[in-house]
Amino acid sequence: MSQQRDAAEHSGAEHSAAEHGAAEHGGVRYDVVVVGSVNADLVVGVDRRPGPGETVLGSDLATHPGGKGANQAVAAARLGGRVGILGRVGDDGHGALLRTALGEAGVDLGHLLTTPGPSGVALITVGPDGDNSIIVSPGANARLTPADVAAAREMIAAASVVSFQLEVPLDAVLAAARAAADAGGRVVLNLSPPAPVPDDLLALCDPLVVNEHEAAFLLGERSTDDPEAMAGALLGRGVRSAVVTLGAAGALVAGLAGTTAVPSPKVEAVDTTGAGDAFTAALCLRLARGDTLEDAARHAVRVGAAAVRSPGAQSSYPAAGDDLPT
Ligand code: ATP
Repeated sequence: MSQQRDAAEHSGAEHSAAEHGAAEHGGVRYDVVVVGSVNADLVVGVDRRPGPGETVLGSDLATHPGGKGANQAVAAARLGGRVGILGRVGDDGHGALLRTALGEAGVDLGHLLTTPGPSGVALITVGPDGDNSIIVSPGANARLTPADVAAAREMIAAASVVSFQLEVPLDAVLAAARAAADAGGRVVLNLSPPAPVPDDLLALCDPLVVNEHEAAFLLGERSTDDPEAMAGALLGRGVRSAVVTLGAAGALVAGLAGTTAVPSPKVEAVDTTGAGDAFTAALCLRLARGDTLEDAARHAVRVGAAAVRSPGAQSSYPAAGDDLPT
């Protein structure tokens, strides 16, 4: 059995990304197109957080490129993928920084649109134990529309895998997922942050990627404490395949052939920010190249583990050819 056919059978899809024959966009084919958020992460360390009406002094401000969509695009491009992004930044200084970070990683910026007003921002305080508190101001991300999707239709159709998260409006996600599926592309959805999604979106997911918290959200009353049971139950929500990430424990892959545990390499975790995005990006890229879902997950846990060994999100992502933990 060919690896590609194996991939399709394992996941329950009637196609594999590598053999669907995506259209070309100006002569370009993409391994991965990401439809998602682009944020500036504004980080301040604090000894304690202020109560209402109170002011505390914090550390110097650090500004990092972030947002789940941008993180995934940068991670996949750094791993050697041909990657495009559909998203929006503001016409402020953050927008320029975010555009530069994506461009330097090699991401195609033809559909990174600019909206008058502020870019998306995550206001992050880090406490003395490394604990994060985050407020996200969506800014330009909230202005991504189905019309933007229609304008990017050619790029989406030229992708083997199209990756989604939920930090941009759901109507844009839905329109792009349908466009990807209509063109024979493989839809990967990261249900993050967790939010209700229509069944017809779930039916396109191959796989749905969730952590335990997101899995529990989606399963509601059918949620259990047993991750393996949860992974199987996700298939009952209509997805073609599911991946549950388990932090240091790795991931579970659920498809027609059953559920398989994929352990993560043991590493000293310095900062887990953006590990899930690195995992999903690596998974998408390997699926685009024709791996089975299980093989793709075996690679993705190594990339996720590599990303927790140093501080930050995008700054911690490995490049193609880097030694990955085993
Ligand atoms: P985040 O929201 O922090 O980006 P997440 O909750 O979406 O992460 P996790 O399950 O925490 O996702 O991590 C994704 C992958 O990263 C894991 O499957 C694993 O491969 C790797 N990983 C995360 N934390 C660790 C760790 N402490 N040690 C080794 N690998 C890790």
